[in-house]
Amino acid sequence: MEAVRTCVGCRQRAPRADLMRVTQQAAVLIVDHKAVNPGRGAWFHPVSECLQLAINRRAFSRALKMTEPADVSGLVQSIEKAETMLASK
Ligand SMILES: [Zn+2]
Repeated sequence: MEAVRTCVGCRQRAPRADLMRVTQQAAVLIVDHKAVNPGRGAWFHPVSECLQLAINRRAFSRALKMTEPADVSGLVQSIEKAETMLASK
C-alpha cells in the first residue's frame, strides 16, 4: 500500500511522492527533500498555490505545533526556484 499524506495547502490526499515534506528548525521552515528529518513534518504539493494556501491558513505552524510565527521566506524561494526550473524545461 502506498503511503498517503494530506497536503496542508489544498487539504487533498496524495501519495507521499507527490508531496514535499517540510520541517522546522528554530521557527524557520525548511524543505526536507529526502523526508528523513526527525520531528514533525508537514506535507504539501510543491507548487505556489498550495504553498500560499498553507501560509494564509497558518497550516505549517499548526501542523508542526509551532509556538512562534513560522519563517516561510526560504520555503517560498525554493518553490519559486523549482517552478522556474520546471517552466524552462
Ligand atoms: Zn495541495
